[in-house]
Amino acid sequence: MIKIEHLVKQYGATMVLSDINATIAKGEVISIIGPSGTGKSTLLRCLNLLEQPSGGHIAIDGQDILARSANVPLLRRRMGMVFQSFNLFAHLTVLGNLTIGPTRLLGKSKKEAETKAQALLKMVGLTDKAESFPDELSGGQKQRVAIARCLSMEPEIILFDEPTSALDPTMVSEVLAVIRQLARDGMTMAIVTHEMSFARQVSTRVFYMDQGIIYEEGPPEQIFDAPQKERTRDFINRVRNLQVKVTSGDFDLYEWFGRIEHFCEKHLIPQKTAFTMELLCEELLEIYRTLMDPMDVDLTMAYSEMDQSLELRADSAGPVGNPLETANLPDRLGVNLILNKAKDIQYSQVGTRNLLTMRVV
Ligand code: ADP
Repeated sequence: MIKIEHLVKQYGATMVLSDINATIAKGEVISIIGPSGTGKSTLLRCLNLLEQPSGGHIAIDGQDILARSANVPLLRRRMGMVFQSFNLFAHLTVLGNLTIGPTRLLGKSKKEAETKAQALLKMVGLTDKAESFPDELSGGQKQRVAIARCLSMEPEIILFDEPTSALDPTMVSEVLAVIRQLARDGMTMAIVTHEMSFARQVSTRVFYMDQGIIYEEGPPEQIFDAPQKERTRDFINRVRNLQVKVTSGDFDLYEWFGRIEHFCEKHLIPQKTAFTMELLCEELLEIYRTLMDPMDVDLTMAYSEMDQSLELRADSAGPVGNPLETANLPDRLGVNLILNKAKDIQYSQVGTRNLLTMRVV
């Protein structure tokens, strides 16, 4: 359906896309992941010609869309785009937002457009919001309207540019649910996203972009479980693991909690699990504080998408031994709490370091 060859985009001297080559077949769901600033959004914007590429070719069904003779408005219509920031018309009701394109650009009658709009609102679960204005909706509702509006133009492919990153965490899942439904219905989509669990569930293929190229592409199992190339592996490890070095009793625990919660939101891990993890960290650090001065503990939280569990690893220096079995504690309340809340607790000594691991499910 789409064939991209040697696509290049420069802004002045800055090369943002240096050589993009890819094909997207009908019905595919492509997730585009990678560090920020590597050109993911630029690629989407070049695809629907919101940006003029500096070089290369993009063909849709064999038709070169960069040719002078290309019918740009028609090509854009075939490709819907959903933005991070919704881009709804604030002065129009939801129904108005959904009917303006079809009546003005697709030549539909008002009645026809409204019937279709109602069906789309039903699909995104917002039947009762037809007469509301965008201002009266939550972020998640606005984004669902934006998706419905995009569908009202009957696109053949939808490009999503980080559709959930402007949303309150509690609203991410309602938007992802709608996109998942579109995937089930066979819609062709390309999605720039930071939601790794979602990307894994929904995609037929994943493009890992790095420094202006598609550095590795493959089925989600390959990219997430067995990346073939070094930078992909580094990236996947980075997004899966959260790490902190604790070297003082004045460690900022609340900042760490904030990072745990953010990490859990990103991976769609329930809040309850995040709170249990915070409790474990707090109790564990309290134990280490009693046992060592200065503190020297590396905490790592690792997420496994396979069984959706969170692992906590505490790697500590010196002769502490297993902190959960030491006799040097004033009381064992913290230890009992950890034994109670964590699963698969394991201790091992690696050289001069003590490694304690546990899981929260
Ligand atoms: P990503 O989506 O991977 O985070 P972007 O495609 O948004 O990356 O941006 C890639 C790079 O291109 C960034 O370094 C950004 O600063 C630069 N860039 C994007 N748009 C413009 C622009 N209009 N003018 C100049 N530089 C831009």
